[in-house]
Amino acid sequence: MSIVVQGVTKLYGEQKALDNVSFQVKTGEIVGFLGPNGAGKSTMMKIITGFIPASSGQVLVNGLEVGTDNPEVKKQIGYLPENNPLYPEMYVREYLGFVASIYNTGTPKKKLIDNIIEVTGLIPEQKKKIGSLSKGYRQRVGLAQALIHNPSVLILDEATTGLDPNQIVEIRKLIKEAGKEKTIMLSTHIMQEVEAICDRVIIIDKGVIVANEEKSNIYSIIRRPKQIVQVEFDKDIKESLLAAIANVTTVKQIKNNLWLLEAEGDEDIRPALFSFAVNNNLTVFSLQKQESNLEDVFRHLTNG
Ligand code: ADP
Ligand code: MG
Repeated sequence: MSIVVQGVTKLYGEQKALDNVSFQVKTGEIVGFLGPNGAGKSTMMKIITGFIPASSGQVLVNGLEVGTDNPEVKKQIGYLPENNPLYPEMYVREYLGFVASIYNTGTPKKKLIDNIIEVTGLIPEQKKKIGSLSKGYRQRVGLAQALIHNPSVLILDEATTGLDPNQIVEIRKLIKEAGKEKTIMLSTHIMQEVEAICDRVIIIDKGVIVANEEKSNIYSIIRRPKQIVQVEFDKDIKESLLAAIANVTTVKQIKNNLWLLEAEGDEDIRPALFSFAVNNNLTVFSLQKQESNLEDVFRHLTNG
């Protein structure tokens, strides 16, 4: 086991951010840590990395207890915190040198820097100031600082949040590559991220673990994410007619002619909606499909 979390509770004043959380991550696994905002993901990751202490409970990384002064624990762990805090005034190489000097790895600093710059695709940007980099490259610097000491366990908190689709693909590629030889726990609120990268998923809600499953089993637990479509017609239509469209499961009227439809199945519901409009002599003013993310799934689970 690379990570063992045993009965961890975290209180912020009166508020219980984590409530007796236990789970384990096997060596070599890539685990997705999912949950809506405020679920406790970042708090759990800060505790695993020894950034903040638990109120009670215990975390072991490669058999070593986290939260003690043992410098060996820090060497085992690479951590990319949420929002990737960096020093914008520092140069990329300068910053990575600064991070490398924290760890006593025995490898010359220059070698560590050169290697990680290559691994994370930072060669063209290595002489620039961090503040002048694009968000995608800044995220690479974040990954570089997490990987520079070659840790066996990597903790990534929302590594792709805020990136554009191309940058997301690039960062996921780097994570997957790193995952070939490391144990990785990554938090996300994007279901597709889990599909793309992870072997297993742990879901947390309100500080409590609500699911811990192999990826292949997860949809049987939380049902497939639904399609959510917002459609506006030019005139009034009966709700029951919309509800009768194939695969439509829920119909909500947002205002006069604006509707929110939920549908199940893999077949895109939009062509059926257009046919429906034509058959009922309606004009479609707007039609938008929303990505169904984990928060939607959670809403469906809690509100039915
Ligand atoms: P997530 O990363 O899943 O969005 P967090 O771990 O950041 O969740 O937060 C869990 C809960 O703990 C939230 O209700 C949040 O408001 C609260 N919280 C997080 N950090 C602090 C803090 N430093 N002080 C007080 N409350 C906090
Ligand atoms: Mg968070």
